[in-house]
Amino acid sequence: MAAKGARESIILACSDCKRRTYTTSKNKRNNTDRLEITKYCKFCGKRTTHKETK
Ligand SMILES: [Zn+2]
Repeated sequence: MAAKGARESIILACSDCKRRTYTTSKNKRNNTDRLEITKYCKFCGKRTTHKETK
C-alpha cells in the first residue's frame, strides 16, 4: 500500500519567548486545527505552550 502524502511539516514556537523550538509533522486530514502542545522550552527553562507557526 502506498502512503498518501497528506503530512505537512510544521514548526512549533514557544508562546512565551516566541522562539521556534521544535519541528514536527502532522497529518493534515486528521488535524485541521492549529496545534497547541505543552512542551519543555529550553530557552525559558520551563514547560510552556507551543503553537504551530509557519
Ligand atoms: Zn520559551
